[in-house]
Order: sequence, then C-alpha cells, then structure tokens
Amino acid sequence: MNGTTRALLQKLVTARGPCGQEEEVLAVCVDWFVSHGLEAWHDEAGNLISRIAPASGSAQSNDDSDSIKVFIHADEISFIIKRILPDGTIKLATLGSFGPAFLGQLPVEILGDAGIVPGVLSLGSWHTGEETADVWHAKHGNYDINQYEIITGMDGEALVERGVLPGARVVIAGQHRTLWDMGRLVAGFALDNRAPITATLGAVEMLLEGPAPRSPVYIVCTREEELGSGTAGFAAETLPGSLSLAVDVSPVSPDEYGNEVDPYPTVGLRDDYAVYNKDVADRLVAHALALEMLPGIGIFENYSSDASAAKRLGRTAKAALVGIPMENTHGYEIIHTDAIENTALLLASFLRSPSGPADTLQE
Ligand SMILES: [Zn+2]
Repeated sequence: MNGTTRALLQKLVTARGPCGQEEEVLAVCVDWFVSHGLEAWHDEAGNLISRIAPASGSAQSNDDSDSIKVFIHADEISFIIKRILPDGTIKLATLGSFGPAFLGQLPVEILGDAGIVPGVLSLGSWHTGEETADVWHAKHGNYDINQYEIITGMDGEALVERGVLPGARVVIAGQHRTLWDMGRLVAGFALDNRAPITATLGAVEMLLEGPAPRSPVYIVCTREEELGSGTAGFAAETLPGSLSLAVDVSPVSPDEYGNEVDPYPTVGLRDDYAVYNKDVADRLVAHALALEMLPGIGIFENYSSDASAAKRLGRTAKAALVGIPMENTHGYEIIHTDAIENTALLLASFLRSPSGPADTLQE
C-alpha cells in the first residue's frame, strides 16, 4: 500500500461513523471529492453522491441511463444507548450484526449532545463467582449485549447534563483507531467499510487520470448499511442506471469459503438477500483475470450489502459486489496490504469497460 493510500485509510478509520451519524466519514469523502475537482452533494436520504463523467465524445458520453452506481457505506459497527440508570449505568443496543465478544472490553466514546464523553465498554471482573451473573454466563460461553454496560465514572444526572441520553451513539475510542501493521497485513477497527471506501476513491482517481469510464459513474456514500438495509435503496431508485455495485468486505473463512486474507478482490455471487447478477459477476471475473488477479468467489452466509439490499427491496434492476478479503469481520479486522490497490484496479478496469475487458475506450 503506498503512502497516500495508507494515509487516506487512516483518516477514514479515525473518523467516527456510527449508523445514522456518519458525518465525520462523509466529511473526509467530501474533502476528497472536492480536492479532486469533483462535485459532491447529499440526497434527501443523506447519501453523499459524486458523478464521474464519461469520456467526452463517446457515444454514451452523457446518456445517464447507462450509469453505474457504486455504493460504499460510511457507517461502522457501533452501539446506541438504550437506557441510563440513576447510578450512571448505561445499557446498550447494537447498531449492526455482531457480538460484543468480537470487541471485548475496551475504551469507547459516547457522542453526547454536548460533545464526546469517554467510557469503557465493560463486562465485569474475571475474579468473581456465580453471583456475578453476567460474567459467570460470559465465562460459560454466553456473550450478549445485555450483559455489557458502559462505565463513565458519572451518575445519571451528570450524564444527562453532558447531553448523554438514550439514542446517543457509542463508538470505539480514537486511541484504538490507529492502523496496526504486520508485514503483508494491516489491521484495525472499522476497516469495514473504510478499506473499500479507500479502494473506490483510488479507482475514481484512476478514472480521472484516464482512460475515463465508458458511462457515467455515480459514487454513493451511504448510511446505515450495517443495519441490513440503509439509505442505499433510496439512491438506487432515484439515481439513473440499472446496475448497483457495492464495494464492501469479503469475509475470510478458509473452511467455509476456501479463501484467506488475499491480495485480490472477491466477486460476489450470492448472499442472504439476493443473488448478484451472474452476467455482471462473470465480467468482473474476466476483468480480474485480464489484470492477472485470481479473484475470490463470494457466496456468503450471514451477509448482505447495499447492492443486494437494494435488489431485495426492488430498488435496483441489477446488483454486483466487489469485496476486499477481510479476516475478523465485525471485530478487529485484518486485510492484505495490496488488497485496496488491487480492488481499485479491478473497479477502474470494469467501469472503463463494463461490457468486457477488451473494450476499453482509449484516450
Ligand atoms: Zn459490515
């Protein structure tokens, strides 16, 4: 991963993006679009959208009906405060599908109305017996969000004064958002979906440098994807074009999916919500092979994307998925250092020539 790519990834990981409050992440994207000479705007659902113009003079140059919509979700695995007890005990609900055992006990930040309030996602002390029921059950394999609380050192009244109320979002603290390098691997929280965002912006940069895409491309930075179907469906329906392509993560499981933390992207075929259109998937695979990449094949359980959600809801005619192979999804996530740039290369190649790799427009 080159320095520019890594710096953008770190900036995106540092930005907080709980479901429904993704403004910090979207602000990084706006800055990126503007600094690359692109306009960016929000639709009524809060999606951030930018349009990449096709090559001028091409037959399709301004026919928006051929547009391709690329979806990247800006939200991350997070919590919402469910209730606050008078003694300051904060109980949570999850925003996204995951178990708290995937995160452990760690520092968090509460997005209070009056600013950030620090806390610790807590389960309790190990050195306890059966009377400490939540820890006891956790020790015997039962981890559930209702066993956890956030300790802030404040009572209920003080929390309310700080603007901490039910509905406030809770995210992993900034000090745990530094990327962790391990040779050919890099790890961190919220790589879902900041690594795919970084890859997509990398592809946009390649398209701007040329050759340009065959048809107009809409980049849609969405919200609330981790809830199963967020704001993507609205944009899929309201923007022109028949194909919605999500760039998201590709879960790694050597036993189940036969993959590992690969440097090459995965092409989606099916998940819990939809089948991805085979003709599009076949062309994505052809592009990957033409780039001398061996793509992973995505047939996933317990998974959905902005594109499959939009298809399931009847908001898009066609769906496609390009995934970055990721270990520990919805936990402390790990990717290959080359995966972002390879994913960018595949995306740029496909968008230049959606009908097949041999058909790229020349400058
Ligand atoms: Zn996710």
